[in-house]
Amino acid sequence: MAIATVNPATGEILKRFNALASEEIEAKLTQAQETFQSYRLTSFTQRQKWLNNAALILERDAEKFATIMTTEMGKTKKSAISEAKKCALVCRYYAENGEAFLADEYTETDATKSYVSYQPLGIILAVMPWNFPFWQVFRFAAPALMAGNVAVLKHASNVPQCALAIEAILEAAGFPEGAFQTLLIGAAQVEDVINDDRVKAATLTGSEPAGMSLASLAGHQIKPTVLELGGSDPLIVFPSADLDEAVDIGTFSRTLNNGQSCIASKRFILHEAIAEQFLEKLQIKFASLKVGDPMDDDTDIGPLATENILNDIVRQVDKAVELGSTVLLGGKRLDRPGNFFPPTILTDIPVDAPTMKEEFFAPVVMVFTVKNIAEAIALANDIPFGLGSSAWTNEPTEQQRFIRDLEAGAVFINGLVKSDPRLPFGGIKRSGYGRELGVPGIRAFVNAKTVWIK
Ligand code: NAP
Repeated sequence: MAIATVNPATGEILKRFNALASEEIEAKLTQAQETFQSYRLTSFTQRQKWLNNAALILERDAEKFATIMTTEMGKTKKSAISEAKKCALVCRYYAENGEAFLADEYTETDATKSYVSYQPLGIILAVMPWNFPFWQVFRFAAPALMAGNVAVLKHASNVPQCALAIEAILEAAGFPEGAFQTLLIGAAQVEDVINDDRVKAATLTGSEPAGMSLASLAGHQIKPTVLELGGSDPLIVFPSADLDEAVDIGTFSRTLNNGQSCIASKRFILHEAIAEQFLEKLQIKFASLKVGDPMDDDTDIGPLATENILNDIVRQVDKAVELGSTVLLGGKRLDRPGNFFPPTILTDIPVDAPTMKEEFFAPVVMVFTVKNIAEAIALANDIPFGLGSSAWTNEPTEQQRFIRDLEAGAVFINGLVKSDPRLPFGGIKRSGYGRELGVPGIRAFVNAKTVWIK
């Protein structure tokens, strides 16, 4: 994919960028390695100050950063402003808590003193997606920098200006030159970077093929990875739930970011006792959403980020229909310039069709009806993914059953699946491994060094 800014609302190519040549990548890695030697010795207090500065910049210029995000990948500007502000939160969170999370941990043994000391690894490669172009990067960068690592970012090729803006924010915040650098490179150039001895680990948020590729390369080099991949999260609604709230949150989750969120509830699994009532409400809610220019304040859903994503969802929905699904709402791309696909509801879905087990990355919800909790859990788990899950019930025994049996990295009862700096985030099965955020997020890329003193 060429590195370029293409406005997804119009299809207009706004700016092209040349990929770095191998000598330029080499110069950046040399700089990163040199910086690491001194950066790792900086104090937590110093890093805390830089992270807090970054938070201030993100808040102060949220509007400017939002314009870049919306222009490059089409999320609504109001959601992009919230994203920039959420990045400030994660910077402050690790600024405040990072030192405590990495404090030496003492254990009594045969030594006079024995403990675990958490030390930075060096250069970490971050391969990031376009869908939350600031948040995905900051939720990695804040803990990595606080831990004393340095980072190089290979961002998605359709958000180069976001990538450059992030580098500029961290530089303006005071981080030393080389502590965080953007590499404008294509996917094929990642191999050389991960193979470089100076790069000690990698994190990737994105699709399964990208994850498999990076993890294999890293595996050959015996380098640790964190993978945050796709999902097709269930939202399960049972009779005791507050239906109106479940419809509101379900709609928000499925259509957030124009339907392109890894943790969106993509499959609604409804108990038969409330299915009809729920669907009626859902249809009204989905139909009320305004599709349009993402820069406008009253737009709920903007364009999909790229033409490829649009083509994928058209293929998936057509396939679902061919297999017998009913389109209750939407279902066809909009006849206008840009990558617009309307809010869509699919029912009567053949559960065993392979297409139904794929991730749908657009505002398209698949709705299923079940008779009981065993059926709901079996259907929820019958996919390759295991990222988030949301279950709506006020029956404590049902809540416990969902918590125990849903195969996912997170279960939210009566609430929206969301990332929160204070809680670990990540998946199981083909949604990836490792955790970001919370305590595990800052311990992902450190050497837990055992120290034993006689
Ligand atoms: P993608 O195509 O996999 O791209 C993600 C990043 O990987 C981009 O920087 C891309 O670069 C790079 N990449 C692609 N192929 C690669 C390869 N073979 N080797 C190394 N790097 C490679 O994914 P996307 O379409 O941008 O993002 C959407 C996916 O991300 C969805 O599946 C979504 O669910 C998932 N996601 C997961 C999470 C999570 O936390 N679990 C969060 C957000 C998104 P180019 O752009 O240059 O191809």
